[in-house]
Amino acid sequence: MKIDCHVHLVAMSQASGCRVSRRLRFFLRFLGVRGARTPEEFDRLYVEKLAAEVCASELDRVVLLALDRVHGEDGAPDDGRTDLFVSNDHAHSVVRRHRDVFLFGASVHPYRADALDELDRVASMGACLVKLLPNSQGFDPAAPRLRSYWRRLAELGMPALVHGGFEHTLGVIDQSFGDPAQLEPALDEGATVIVAHAGTAGLMHRRETLGAFLALLAKYPRCYGDTSALGNAWRAHYLRLLLDPDLLERRFGVRIDDAAKRLVHGSDHPIPITPLAFAGRIPLEKLRRVGRLENPLQKDVQLKRAAGLPDAALTRAYDEIGIGKPSAIIQEHTPGLSAT
Ligand SMILES: [Zn+2]
Repeated sequence: MKIDCHVHLVAMSQASGCRVSRRLRFFLRFLGVRGARTPEEFDRLYVEKLAAEVCASELDRVVLLALDRVHGEDGAPDDGRTDLFVSNDHAHSVVRRHRDVFLFGASVHPYRADALDELDRVASMGACLVKLLPNSQGFDPAAPRLRSYWRRLAELGMPALVHGGFEHTLGVIDQSFGDPAQLEPALDEGATVIVAHAGTAGLMHRRETLGAFLALLAKYPRCYGDTSALGNAWRAHYLRLLLDPDLLERRFGVRIDDAAKRLVHGSDHPIPITPLAFAGRIPLEKLRRVGRLENPLQKDVQLKRAAGLPDAALTRAYDEIGIGKPSAIIQEHTPGLSAT
């Protein structure tokens, strides 16, 4: 099964119970849906367009991501510092209506007082992973208080998809929380961790975080990276690096013979793709063909393929990590869940 494991859900209407800050609304105007006259219409069109794009692509499923609010150390939600909040219930209801194209990616802030119960709840609702964005959600993945959280994820067999590197879209509380090295305790507790963007820093940062991700790959077999946003101008230069073990060793001092074997496909939709940024790395004719594609999900697949990423990245989430496979937990707790 071909899966895009990193697609964002966005919802603007009051009825959705979600939240998009004014700053992000401005940004979203240039991405995704155009022509929506009301927030309700935006929500409907965003989902319908995406579902149609999955159908028209070679992908079998995309993981549609919730995103939990910022929470303070006391466990209280902090709406003032939250740019994007997509609730688990909303994401789940959208996925249930389009089970043929979407998988449920939940999000549970580890500081929530009910974090462990919420992990159990989303697992019983069929979540295939838990998405976290430490830089913007405001927590340090290495904080000792998170040990039980990571352990519960390991027990549930639910992978964590965790942002790695610097965050460029949402408001940031602390960029150092995105350092892949902070994920060691999660892996020590036995959780499967997919480091988003393969832990790459992005352009114009003095500190490169890719080396820390490679060190995790070398040490933990349950660590993976996703290719999300590697088709964007900010991160376009990394794909070539990830496919060249000698170059990786020279730059970061870590020998990974086939880093691509630990990568799973993700787009980071609706973050835009910039084929032009691959000029000089992909033959021009191929690049033009990709650039002409209108379906952003398919365009992302073909751009990475043209850049040399093996197709196994498309099926690895299912084949190796089990994302999209029916879960024993769902059957145990919610026998009627498939009756939609
Ligand atoms: Zn993302």
